[in-house]
Amino acid sequence: MPSSRSSTEARHALQASPRSLRGVGPALAEKLAALGIHRVEDLLFQMPLRYEDRTHVTPIGGAQPGARVMIEGEVAVAEVVFRPRRTLLVRLMDGTGQLTLRFFHFSNAQRAGFSRDRKLTAFGEVRLLKAGKEMVHPEYRLLADSESSHTEAGLSAIYPTTDGIHQQRMRKLVGGALQLMRRHPPAELVPASLLQDLVLPTLRQALETVHSPAPQADTQSLINAEHPAQQRLALEELLAHQVSMRLLRRSVQSEKAPPIPPGHPLIQALLKQLPFDPTAAQHRVFAEISSDMALDQPMLRLVQGDVGSGKTLVAALAAVAAIGAGMQCALMAPTELLAEQHEASYRRWLEPLDIEVVRLAGSLRAAERRQALASVEGGRAKMVVGTHALFQDAVSFACLGLVIIDEQHRFGVHQRLALRDKGGRHGLAPHQLVMTATPIPRTLAMTAYADLDTSIIDELPPGRTPVKTVVIPEERRDEVIDRVATACAEGRQIYWVCPLVETSEQLEAQAAEDTAAVLADQLPKVRVGLVHGRLKAADKASAMQQFANATTDLLVATTVIEVGVDVPNASLMIIENAERMGLSQLHQLRGRVGRGAAASTCVQLYKSPLSRAARARLGVMRESNDGFVIAEQDLELRGPGELLGTRQTGAVAFRLADLKRDAHLLPAVQNAASQILSSPDAEQSETVKQLLARWIGDASRYGNV
Ligand code: ADP
Ligand code: MG
Repeated sequence: MPSSRSSTEARHALQASPRSLRGVGPALAEKLAALGIHRVEDLLFQMPLRYEDRTHVTPIGGAQPGARVMIEGEVAVAEVVFRPRRTLLVRLMDGTGQLTLRFFHFSNAQRAGFSRDRKLTAFGEVRLLKAGKEMVHPEYRLLADSESSHTEAGLSAIYPTTDGIHQQRMRKLVGGALQLMRRHPPAELVPASLLQDLVLPTLRQALETVHSPAPQADTQSLINAEHPAQQRLALEELLAHQVSMRLLRRSVQSEKAPPIPPGHPLIQALLKQLPFDPTAAQHRVFAEISSDMALDQPMLRLVQGDVGSGKTLVAALAAVAAIGAGMQCALMAPTELLAEQHEASYRRWLEPLDIEVVRLAGSLRAAERRQALASVEGGRAKMVVGTHALFQDAVSFACLGLVIIDEQHRFGVHQRLALRDKGGRHGLAPHQLVMTATPIPRTLAMTAYADLDTSIIDELPPGRTPVKTVVIPEERRDEVIDRVATACAEGRQIYWVCPLVETSEQLEAQAAEDTAAVLADQLPKVRVGLVHGRLKAADKASAMQQFANATTDLLVATTVIEVGVDVPNASLMIIENAERMGLSQLHQLRGRVGRGAAASTCVQLYKSPLSRAARARLGVMRESNDGFVIAEQDLELRGPGELLGTRQTGAVAFRLADLKRDAHLLPAVQNAASQILSSPDAEQSETVKQLLARWIGDASRYGNV
């Protein structure tokens, strides 16, 4: 057992500035600081990007194209050629084969070094060209005749590098930190019982292995990031993330919110005017929301439900409850198109109850906007709908009691945090209700939404027939056109979804316009509408309106209609180039049909040849209508980043952990987080502070923001 004195010393040594390491002066320290490395310990948590195997020399004859290997050979010829540009080519032979080293930048001295028969080792990626194997700009080392090659004992860690801190330097710095660590072991923050249960090494052992793998270490598992040492660190990273999310939740919930008494008569009034009864699942989830909102601390609740499960009604009931209690409710949608849709539903449901609905759109004229802002500020507008622009500084609410965030995955945790200052004059923080568009697999939800309680609407309204999904090659497009004509003659409405062009909204819009023109030509009896991201807001709205009231039969659209759009009479959807889309996206799109009583069909058109992954995706779509099943498959096929849309939000960017690979660690992470946070002033504890400092960086972002 280390005495408390020595553990304090240890902390000091690793918490000191990197300048305490040999060779680090003010200039280098500044570059390190720019990378977020402020303490020696931060170097230890700078994870290698990958590993290189320089433990042995590979015979040239056996070097596989694509592999990064070490070779050794003698120079047969070295020559400078000038086509297509000045290039030094060095042909090496080792008795098993030959390989060319290719340099575009080289000095005369370098060139002179490659004398005939000179022995050397080189490390790099093998490429196979028509002329044979080669390496471009390999690392190399000339050897004296008697010298043998410089293999390394274990795998070499490769770090992310930046301007001014190259690989060699980074490796030395980490090496220095490791040496210090051996004398002053880092604090172990993961509960010991947990490490024992999972049979994982201590932090010290793990860091040692990850940065400087022993010769006997299991190289394949290190390369795959499945080594127990990496698992140990991933566990700690997930734990740090979990702890920070729960602290975030604590800090939001330490504020006062306006309690909203359940059972206001307006709720009954809304239910009475509906043409249907809520499902048992809708009732249950609304009851969970009601009991959260009855408290004087902010609700933080996530509602998950498959496409078409009726999330909108549940949100509207919550809105009416808040409004009944004299509060305002704000609904934030990810796009203008969706905000418009919501405005329409809320007007339909709330205006008969004498509740004023306002939409703050980007497209409002100055005077309209001023007027809308005034009614929000004055408290007359009870229901306010918009995009995230709603939370710009210019908008101030009289008494905001509830914020509903629709289709959450496009908003980041921090955007959500900013909401609490928007309460209004009463100085209270609003309740928060988050609705997801796509079901999220449990493991992901546990991590990405650790700060939220979860409700699941696990039932569809009665009378829905599952959408039948077929997969048809582009060559049979004519058949599909016939099908559209027939459907239209039967009074059904049809969506035609155009290909996704990720690189250019303009090309995408162009493709949609072309498709609409061609279809209008081929289907003279069909009234064709068009909606895409490049249209003006008013044109978009009117295209949607015409489709909704059946003035058009066929709506040609880009993926702007992906979420939220609700036209129950539409019962046929054609998706072009379905092979390019992700599973969750296909499921969302398909969710636009199958909303009415008529049996619906989704046609996935594809261009041959199909990649294996695309074939798998389209197969999943054909087999399943269950969003939760599809989300699990999506996680399996594409990983969490795509599913959560974190590219945009940066919500879950791990250094080492991978939610798919490390999912099995999550239950243990949950328990450990509860254990660490069990005391009321846990955020002040040394364990928590260090955990956040190690993995999250600037911990102040998470505590009292
Ligand atoms: P999502 O969960 O995808 O947001 P919506 O809230 O848009 O689903 O609901 C889909 C459709 O189902 C809407 O037309 C809505 O009016 C209708 N709906 C909602 N709840 C019920 C219910 N209990 N019974 C019948 N129809 C319902
Ligand atoms: Mg919806």
